[in-house]
Amino acid sequence: MSIVILGSTGSIGINALALCDAHEIEVEALVAGRNIDLLNEQIRRFHPRMVAIADAADARKVAHNDVRSGTEGILSLIEESQSEIVLNALVGFAGLLPTLKAIEAGKRIALANKESLVAGGMLIDTSHIIPVDSEHFALRYLMNGKEFRKLYITASGGAFRDWELEKIETASFADALKHPNWSMGDKITIDSATMTNKLFELLEAKWLFDSTAVDALIERSSTVHALIAYTDGSTVAHMASTDMKLPIALALGIEPKSPVVPETDPLTLSPLRFEAIDERRYPIWQIKTHLLQHPHLGVVINAANEVAIEAFKKERCSFFGMSDIVLDAYKHFEDVVPSSIEDVVKIDEEVRNYVRMSNGVMSNE
Ligand code: NDP
Repeated sequence: MSIVILGSTGSIGINALALCDAHEIEVEALVAGRNIDLLNEQIRRFHPRMVAIADAADARKVAHNDVRSGTEGILSLIEESQSEIVLNALVGFAGLLPTLKAIEAGKRIALANKESLVAGGMLIDTSHIIPVDSEHFALRYLMNGKEFRKLYITASGGAFRDWELEKIETASFADALKHPNWSMGDKITIDSATMTNKLFELLEAKWLFDSTAVDALIERSSTVHALIAYTDGSTVAHMASTDMKLPIALALGIEPKSPVVPETDPLTLSPLRFEAIDERRYPIWQIKTHLLQHPHLGVVINAANEVAIEAFKKERCSFFGMSDIVLDAYKHFEDVVPSSIEDVVKIDEEVRNYVRMSNGVMSNE
């Protein structure tokens, strides 16, 4: 078995390569962004046949004789690969076209890049997708063909779950990166603090499981990742430690003979408590119901959110300012209805331009 890894230098990519090492999985191709030093280490260790990076200007620093660049480079690499599995662990909207290309090429996609489904879910044939996100991995794990009444995913509450609301207004980017339970890339960690990540995951669940009977609850220890309430009145929960190696391993088709992550010991569990998500602490939550009824608007919140995170990082808006930006764009673009990938790309661009112009976030740097 061989695989293609998109986003090999990121949090998910690094975990995936550790699994490839442990299970002797051949790595046919690697895609990274700007961390060329780490990419070169990975090339030395895994000897991929092809490599792609974000920017052509970095190509001469890459220790490989087949280095492609930019979106076209990634797409050509997917097209020419022989592997049956593509792990898409790119971050953000940049993951959408590679997901569509992998589907077109008949690949199985281990999908970490949730933004693919958030922005373009209506255009994606999800029968090709195995979710890597821990909550959707858990839902898939629990599903057994029985009729369900409701799907629940859990949230930790993010970095500011215990902060006074007034204090959150003064929070910095570095503060928001202090996730209580998980170690992940910067963007998803910020999205966890605003609860945007959970909104994205509801959309992800909607497209993957073809249901809008989905909701999220806070479970502070991140021991329970998801629950399914069946129509017969029983509810089942999935528990596992906070380590992405388990969902990645199963999405890659590895059949572990021993535990991939430390087993959950019921005797040492802290008491489990589930809490509703408070819109005052997480203002983005107020569009949850509308968004699930209009899931094609995911492209709008995704684009606005990516610009808002950059603005927060550059101290051009406050922590709550990010949610204000996304909610304003959501209202402004609520009538758009993308019906093709070209529409999605165009709306993504329009939303980014609107957010930069209307929120004083002018720079594109
Ligand atoms: P990271 O930021 O850690 O990694 C992102 C990866 O994408 C890096 O390898 C980065 O390269 C690469 N990359 C970014 N932009 C480009 C580009 N334009 N061209 C080529 N490569 C690019 O993110 P995570 O690993 O945390 O997350 C990846 C995805 O998985 C996200 O969609 C996230 O929501 C999802 N996810 C992550 C989880 C986690 O535990 N981390 C859990 C569940 C889902 P470089 O670093 O070299 O610039």
